[in-house]
This record gives sequence, structure tokens and C-alpha cells, in this order.
Amino acid sequence: MSEERSLNFIEEIVEEDLAAGKNGGRVLTRFPPEPNGYLHIGHAKSICLNFGLAKKYNGKTNLRFDDTNPVKEDVEYVDSIKEDVKWLGFDWAEELYASDYFDKLYEFAVTLIKQGMAYVDDSTAEEIAAQKGTPTEPGKGNQYRNRSVEENLQLFADMKAGKFPDGAKVLRAKIDLASPNMLLRDPLMYRIKHAHHHRTGDAWCIYPMYDFAHGQSDAIEEITHSICTLEFVPHRPLYDLFIEKLNIFPSKQYEFARLNLNYTVMSKRKLLQLVEEGHVDGWDDPRMPTISGLRRRGYTPASIREFCERIGVAKRENMIDVGLLEFCIREDLNKTAWRRMAVLDPVKLIIDNYPEGQKDVFHGENNPEVEGGDGSREFPFSRELWIERDDFMEEPTKKYFRLGIGLMVRLKNAYIIKGESIEKDANGNITAIHCSYIPESKSGNDTSGINVKGTIHWVSADHAKTAEVRLYDRLFQVEDPSNEDGDFKDYINPNSLQVLKTVYVEPDLANAKPGTPVQFMRKGYFTLDKTSTPDNLVFNRTVTLKDSWVKKG
Ligand code: ATP
Ligand code: MG
Repeated sequence: MSEERSLNFIEEIVEEDLAAGKNGGRVLTRFPPEPNGYLHIGHAKSICLNFGLAKKYNGKTNLRFDDTNPVKEDVEYVDSIKEDVKWLGFDWAEELYASDYFDKLYEFAVTLIKQGMAYVDDSTAEEIAAQKGTPTEPGKGNQYRNRSVEENLQLFADMKAGKFPDGAKVLRAKIDLASPNMLLRDPLMYRIKHAHHHRTGDAWCIYPMYDFAHGQSDAIEEITHSICTLEFVPHRPLYDLFIEKLNIFPSKQYEFARLNLNYTVMSKRKLLQLVEEGHVDGWDDPRMPTISGLRRRGYTPASIREFCERIGVAKRENMIDVGLLEFCIREDLNKTAWRRMAVLDPVKLIIDNYPEGQKDVFHGENNPEVEGGDGSREFPFSRELWIERDDFMEEPTKKYFRLGIGLMVRLKNAYIIKGESIEKDANGNITAIHCSYIPESKSGNDTSGINVKGTIHWVSADHAKTAEVRLYDRLFQVEDPSNEDGDFKDYINPNSLQVLKTVYVEPDLANAKPGTPVQFMRKGYFTLDKTSTPDNLVFNRTVTLKDSWVKKG
């Protein structure tokens, strides 16, 4: 991460505020998720921004659950959100809930009614929508708009007391039915919902709308910089208006462009559909753009923070290539992942001149990228090995530098071998490759004088552990599935998961721990899945070694 990068526009605002002595030099941000789903990489952007600002300017960040819609919210989501924020490496100052402010918000509403700024409306949702007009046509008022303060106070109290069914009445702000900003045409403040809330239980049957909860919650906490995404720009006048009329702490809202990533979807509603309809294996499916999915896939917090840093803070919507995210994890894992050999598509290699029952033990560095080394490991060598099927060619083309009949290749960290003959089954599939090895060609002590161009990986057949390997590809076939004709699910990539049931890996991987990154040499970065056990190893491919998508496209 470059230290000299220029300030983003929100940092500029914060620095101006600090220079002007605003808020007594205090910076307090908040991250305000609605607990109606798991966090995704877009939220990570917002988290990095909010917590990052506070960190940079000696401030603090609250974690505030925006839990004003009881129907869709759940403690499962609250728990997962806390886990994900912590995992990303951030600590919040206070854990807060908009629902803790329900009493206060109710009082605020009463204050506005007394100011003649709010009224109870008996119209249906359809009637309200119809009366609102269009962006070019002003809206129309109705008889409820002229209710007296006393009547409004009584009706609002009755709404709270549960005297009316869902939808019978709403509380609206009396602002301007002709405003060019549709959101100012008497927006809803409260609606009736006889629903159980995950925190307040059945205490309330009226719930505040986002616009009447968010700014006031910010003000109650004395948030100095309330950062949100661009779609809230038209909400800002409302945010400021309520704060002004209520004469509460003047929090300020600033908007930045949301993160859009290609080949995926990021709305929680859509992600929920993928989960509920079984297109993926839960919110933490490694193909999901969720934080928990990325974690299970083998992404590290550092790689996600680096990604968020690199994309910067934009004022205009744009689409970020998922290749950048992949680049960030490759960079990170290259420095940390231990190198191991694993054969994903195995074929037997028999070394005819290597004595049966003999065993060599070879050494290889854990990670040659680490300065001063990261230790080494031992791995056994014997007469029968597994190699990749595509590291052998029966009729080698001119530039083929791997194994063929009469062709020589080096076995990684071991000997040079020469292809001799093959065995095939009745269908013509190769079942074994016979070769000879050059005893003087041992790696590190090679006196054979033979130069070979290719090196292939292998594992000893007698000693290897069997593992299942899951290869993931992009979940969608098109860049922006939400912007295509028809349903976004029509564009799911049918080959986004390939399961290899019989993969042979170096024996010491039996002791690997979940979350530990491994580079399978020449194959990619992998991590143990949460379902893996020492007897039933399951690896997820985090990312390939190089960007292989271009070739396929
Ligand atoms: P979604 O549209 O995915 O359902 P949301 O905006 O409804 O997301 P919230 O839980 O309300 O989800 O979001 C919490 C915070 O994260 C908000 O401040 C929101 O602006 C921010 N956020 C959500 N999605 C993104 C994104 N793609 N990029 C940046 N910030 C985001
Ligand atoms: Mg939201």
C-alpha cells in the first residue's frame, strides 16, 4: 500500500473539518448494516472506508445495526456481521441498534407533529403513490393532510397502541408535494407492522422508515461523518431537514460510489435467492461475493483490505473487474502460502529402474519467496508415483517440454526421468507410464550433465494422501447479470464448481489446518474447506496462479 497516495475526497472533507476545529476535532463514523443478510465485498468497501477514516484521524467507529424492518431481520445475520467485521480486522467503539432508539424516535415524531410537520394519513399505499404525482407533475394533497395537531397526536398514539391493522394508517412528514425531489413529497415516517422484532419483541407495532431513523440515529450517537452510497444523495435534504427541525446534533451525510464487481451480484435480496433456491451451498459458498464466502474460499483479510484500498473512493458509479480482487489475493498468498505438490488429474508413473521397496526422502522449501526462507519439508519418493495426466503426451508436439516416450523431464526436487512405454486399458486410456530415472541427476547434486527444459510435479503413490478438490469459477457467465434481459439467475455459470474426488497430495498435508493457505505448485492456491477432516481432506481452490479467464473468453 503506498503511503503517498493522495487523499480521497472524504479524507479531504475530514481534514478541512479538523482544520476548522469542527466537532472539537472529533471524528466518529459508523457502519450501519441492516441485519437482513450476510455482508458482501461491497460492505467491505464501506467498512474499510468508515473504520479506515477513524483510524487515520484518531477517531472511532460505531457498529450500528439498522434494524427497523422486523420482517426481514434476524440474529443470525447480526452474529455473522459481527464476525465478518472482526475478521476483516476492525474493532468498533460501540455496538448499537437503531431499535434501541425506538422510544427516542417516537418522541421525535411527536415533536414534529406538534410543529405541524407530520400527519397521520389513512390512505392506502396505492392512493399515496397515485397522489404523489410524477417528477414532472406535482402531487396532490388529501383531506388527512389538514388534520389538527391534536387529532394527529391522538391517532399516532393509537397507532402505537395497536388500535389499527397493518397498512391502515401511516405517519407522513408534511413537507412539499410539489418538490422536484420526490422523496420530499410528504415521505412516510412510520408504518404499522404487527411483527415480532428480533430485539424489541412485540413491544412495537409501528416502525420508523429508513429516512426517519437513519439521520436521527446518527445524531443521537453524534456521528460526525455519516458515509453512505450515492443512491442516498436525494435523501440528504430529508436527512438535514429532520435534524434541523428537531434541533439535534448536526451529523452530516457524504456519499461515495458503491462498489460494483463484475461476474457477480451484490444485492442481499439476490444473494438470499441464490441461497434459498439452492443455487449455492449457503451464504458462505466459496463462489459467493460474501465476506464469509471469500473467507471459506481462502481470501485473507489483508487481501480484501488491499483491494478496497486499490479501488479507492469514487464519486461516480463504475464496475470493478474481479481480476483485481484475484490479483490482490495472489500477491498476498505468494508471500505466505506453503508450496506443496498435488496431482489433480493423476496417472501412474512407474520408474522401472528404481528398486521396488526403496524410498528416498527429498526436501523442498516451504516458500522460496520468503527472504531467509520459511523452512522446508520432507517428502518421500518411491518407484511408483502419481503425475498429472497432461504432463505426458503420447505423440508430443514440437514445443512440448514435458514427458513423452523418449523425452526427458525433471521430477521437481528429485531426478531426471525418460519416458519408456505406456500401458492402456481396453478403451485406449493410458493406465500407467513407464520410465527410467538417471541416478546421477538428483536435485542439488546433479552430476549427470543433462539439461532438460521441463519440470513436473509428482507425489509418491505409496505415501500420498487422497483429497477432494473443489475448483471454483465465476458464478455468472456475464459481467453484469442484473442488467441482462430476464432473470439474473438465467446467467449462472453451470460450470462454476468442478469437484475432483481423487486428488493425491503430499502426505504432510494431512496435518494442515483449515484456513492455512497452500500453493499446489503449478496449479494454484488452495485452502482446506471447513468440512475437511484429516481422514477426508477437502481443498478449495482460492485462485489460479495466473489469470486464466482471458484464454477461455
Ligand atoms: P444491498 O443493496 O446489498 O442489500 P444495502 O445497502 O441494503 O445492501 P446495508 O446493510 O443497508 O445494505 O448496507 C450497510 C452499509 O454498507 C451502507 O452504508 C451501504 O451504503 C454500504 N454498502 C452496501 N453495499 C455497498 C457497496 N456495494 N459498496 C459500498 N458500500 C456498500
Ligand atoms: Mg440498505
